[in-house]
Amino acid sequence: MAHILSKVHMTKKLLLTLLFTTLAGRLFAQGKLTVMTTTEDLASIAREIGGDHVTVDSIAKGYQDPHFVEAKPSFILKLQKADVLIAVGRELEIGWLPPLIQQSRNAKIQVGAPGYLDASLQAAILEIPNGNITRAMGDVHPLGNPHYWMDPENGKRIAKEIADKFSELRSGDRAFYAQQLAGFTTRLDAAEKGWLARMAPYKGTKMVTYHRSFPNFAERFGLDIVGYVEPRPGIPPTPQHTLDLINEMKRQNVKLVLVEPYFDMKTPLAIGRETGAQVLVMPPSVGGTKDVPDYFKLFDYDISLLIDAIKKSGAK
Ligand SMILES: [Zn+2]
Repeated sequence: MAHILSKVHMTKKLLLTLLFTTLAGRLFAQGKLTVMTTTEDLASIAREIGGDHVTVDSIAKGYQDPHFVEAKPSFILKLQKADVLIAVGRELEIGWLPPLIQQSRNAKIQVGAPGYLDASLQAAILEIPNGNITRAMGDVHPLGNPHYWMDPENGKRIAKEIADKFSELRSGDRAFYAQQLAGFTTRLDAAEKGWLARMAPYKGTKMVTYHRSFPNFAERFGLDIVGYVEPRPGIPPTPQHTLDLINEMKRQNVKLVLVEPYFDMKTPLAIGRETGAQVLVMPPSVGGTKDVPDYFKLFDYDISLLIDAIKKSGAK
């Protein structure tokens, strides 16, 4: 009898231990995902999808040129703790991200590992070059334009990729992420309708931008970018190119120059003086100014800024 009791007791203890281990294992496995993104745009979308099931931090700040980010040791520490790394891709980060990933020695987020996500996979990419364009020529857009998040339609595609990745890594939260994605998509659709309506009267407005950060934005909202202050993406202005650009702007009566927050204003201001164009600093990223804390505010802010400038310039 004592023998049987002891056996029952043992079984109970074993069951409890097994139960505890399983629960602890599940809690651990299904804990908050630690998400790192390369840019604040991706961080904003990741927060929309992940809600309180994730913690999100980004490497580059929105007021920095995402092509050229100074690699700091603190980034390596952050990458060491990440479950997921979300990158813009299309070689936007090729100048600085690969050594950071390597030095993090975090197997989860190496390129090709389950915790690495290239957000460009389903996005509509513009300006894909014909033939061979290499970085040796100084062009920092060799795989097409990497500033694709500037179209809310691509924002939805990025969000879908992120929701799929989070679900893959936390299958128990699949329904939660699906719901978050649906909510985000609905809100973004509604916001986009408003943005399109506001921009409709200014369709076809001609402008020049410093870097090729806005082709997706221009295509979505019906703007006509006729030239760039940079002769090629990533190459600083040259006197001859600036002169050609000024002549072209005069010929086509272009009255707007958009400059990303991280470029020197000297050449754009000179172009403005020569052509009478409005020169405005327009952020292509969340965090580009303090007034742009998230992905929705990015379009709110840029569209308001642009409409004000178009009115002032008399371009439309
Ligand atoms: Zn670029």
